[in-house]
Amino acid sequence: MLRIFWFACMAISLVLGPMAWTNSQGVNAASTSSEQGTTMTQKIDKTEGEWRQHLSSEQYHILRKKGTEPAFSSPLNYNKDKGVYQCAACGLELFTSDSKFESGTGWPSYWQPIAPNRIITKPDRSLFMSRTEVLCARCGSHLGHVFNDGPPPTGQRYCINGLTLKFEEDKAKKTP
Ligand SMILES: [Zn+2]
Repeated sequence: MLRIFWFACMAISLVLGPMAWTNSQGVNAASTSSEQGTTMTQKIDKTEGEWRQHLSSEQYHILRKKGTEPAFSSPLNYNKDKGVYQCAACGLELFTSDSKFESGTGWPSYWQPIAPNRIITKPDRSLFMSRTEVLCARCGSHLGHVFNDGPPPTGQRYCINGLTLKFEEDKAKKTP
């Protein structure tokens, strides 16, 4: 009887030992990523059900189903305040007000992202057009398209759905 009990203890410690070790490693990995803040090394991968809960139905349609908001519908199209535009799905900082310009298209437009690695681009041949799709590099959400008819210095026009962006005003640089 005692021998059976001893075997049971050994078996439990063999199972629980590696599990406890894995868990402490997991905690370490999590604290490292939070120290990096909104850097984009850590990819975000949620299920479609999780995205649906996290986003409004309009946002979900654009960000996760590659939809497009009606032109001139987003208040951010007219926003001239200084600040940073984040991905509405994951919070990654994508564009600043310094690269925003009035394109006349009805969608918020920028001539460059904060850093090249904040976005990824993909050829998009839908709707009988040849366009370049712009996605958030961290969560893979659809943001809009980029065209080669933008202003200097890059000549690029990142045409972005306002519903895919969250604006964080820079209070120190508030426009009078
Ligand atoms: Zn994102």
